[in-house]
Amino acid sequence: MEQYFFILSLRKEKKMTQKEVADAMHISDKTISKWERGMGCPDVTLLKALSHILGINMDSILSGNMDLNELNGGNMKHIKFYVCPNCNNIIHSTGVSEIACCGRKLEALVAKTMDDAHKITISKVEYDYHITFNHPMEKEHYISFFAYIGIDRILFIRMYPEQSSEIRLPRMQGGTFYFYCTNHELWRYNL
Ligand SMILES: [Zn+2]
Ligand SMILES: [Zn+2]
Repeated sequence: MEQYFFILSLRKEKKMTQKEVADAMHISDKTISKWERGMGCPDVTLLKALSHILGINMDSILSGNMDLNELNGGNMKHIKFYVCPNCNNIIHSTGVSEIACCGRKLEALVAKTMDDAHKITISKVEYDYHITFNHPMEKEHYISFFAYIGIDRILFIRMYPEQSSEIRLPRMQGGTFYFYCTNHELWRYNL
């Protein structure tokens, strides 16, 4: 996409007038109009403000390129998890995303299938699943979250060191369990 058209289409997406963008940047709306007609482009000092206002990263503005995902309707089967190595922020997404936290780009975790150390035992208790981990829950090594992905919902359980290594959660039809070990990352179990 040409850069000038890109600025125009992003501005429209934000439902902002040229004047509103210009005011937010403390520049004249004639300048915005010029950019959108392909007459010149923002210099580096203005780029930062522009990318902030349009809600897009600077790389995208510079390249005039916004990679659009194919519509997948947020299909739960495509769920991906991201954990920030710095602040432990946990993010999930059902599509292809560019995820960043603490100034780093995060890669989607690749779930492993269970090994002996990351084995879970599942039993049915009334309307629930009772899940037991054969895994330490110590500060240096523990399961920090458990997620149950159903067809139309996610049940997310945050876990903490020193807590017992079992959880109970309402049963849904089918689905997938994911859990995250602070040392060995993401594990998956298909029901
Ligand atoms: Zn972070
Ligand atoms: Zn582990």
